[in-house]
Parts: sequence; C-alpha cells; structure tokens
Amino acid sequence: MKLQQIQCTSCGAPIEWDGKYGQPVKCTYCGSVFLPAVTGREDVWLMTDVVARARYEFEGRLDKLEQDIRFEVMRGQDWSALDRAYAAEINRLETEGVVRKLATFWAISPHPSVYRALRDGELNLKGNRIPFKKGDDIVWACPMTRDRFNLDWPVLIGDFQDQRTQQLCGNMANAMMGRMR
Ligand SMILES: [Zn+2]
Repeated sequence: MKLQQIQCTSCGAPIEWDGKYGQPVKCTYCGSVFLPAVTGREDVWLMTDVVARARYEFEGRLDKLEQDIRFEVMRGQDWSALDRAYAAEINRLETEGVVRKLATFWAISPHPSVYRALRDGELNLKGNRIPFKKGDDIVWACPMTRDRFNLDWPVLIGDFQDQRTQQLCGNMANAMMGRMR
C-alpha cells in the first residue's frame, strides 16, 4: 500500500497515511485523533463542476477524484489565495450576468466549470486585473495547465475551440486518464 504524508491537524507533525478517508488517524507525536482531510471535505470541491462531480459519483469513482484533487492538484496543500480569489470572482461575475456557465467542464481534474463572457470585463485576483473580451471562454487553470499554457495567473482565457488549445487539452486528458486508472 502506498503511504502518503499528511500533517496532524493539532500539532502539524508529519504522519504517514494509507489514504483511507473516513477512518480516524492517531498522531504519534501529540496523541490527538482526527479524520484526515488536508482541506475540509467540501472545500476540496471548490473548483469542481457539479456535473463532473455527479458523474464520478454515479460511476462510483468519487473517492478517486477526491484523492487526485488532494494529492495531484493541490499537492497536499490548501488552495492558494489566488485560487480562492478566482472562485469568488467567477461567482461574482456570474451573479452580475457578465459570464455564464457553459454545459461543459475542463477535461482534466478537478474538472472546473467553463464560463463564457457575455460582455467585456475583468477578473480581479488580489489586485491583479485580468481582462477578458465578450465571447471569451474562461476556466480555472490548475498548475499543470498553467505550465502548459505559460500562464501568469490561475486562469485560462481564450478560444477553447482553437486547434492549439484542443491539442494541448487532449494531451493533458490522456495524461490524466493514465493516472486515474
Ligand atoms: Zn499531533
């Protein structure tokens, strides 16, 4: 069994964990008992499209996706301040009718929702203004996506029908499928 390293929620000591959610773990340093969750259970799904999540649940693979998000996407850390800023901003823009959520989600974990800009606007990520144009598609970008597209911010804005985008996404989706198996 492959062990993963997590932190004790009380004292922060490193603990080897067998990756089984829902089973209490006892810290060998301070003795406290806790349920492993580097990030709160609901918080893990911050970036995941509800339809994508429901699909994994239907297929009985939700645990796999949760694990992938925690350890491959979040790398055992919490969401960054910029990630949270993106989540808040895209909700604000949707509420204000500047963007609308499309009936599609990003091909790779954590399968964030894809939005389309209904008019010109901007995302404000901790004081950094990131403009978009009417008709642009907008999606949260995981570290892997950031690397592939050389992004400065955790957001990909552009034409997702574009050949280059499709090809890059195809490559990433394949890499992802390999890991999920
Ligand atoms: Zn402890």
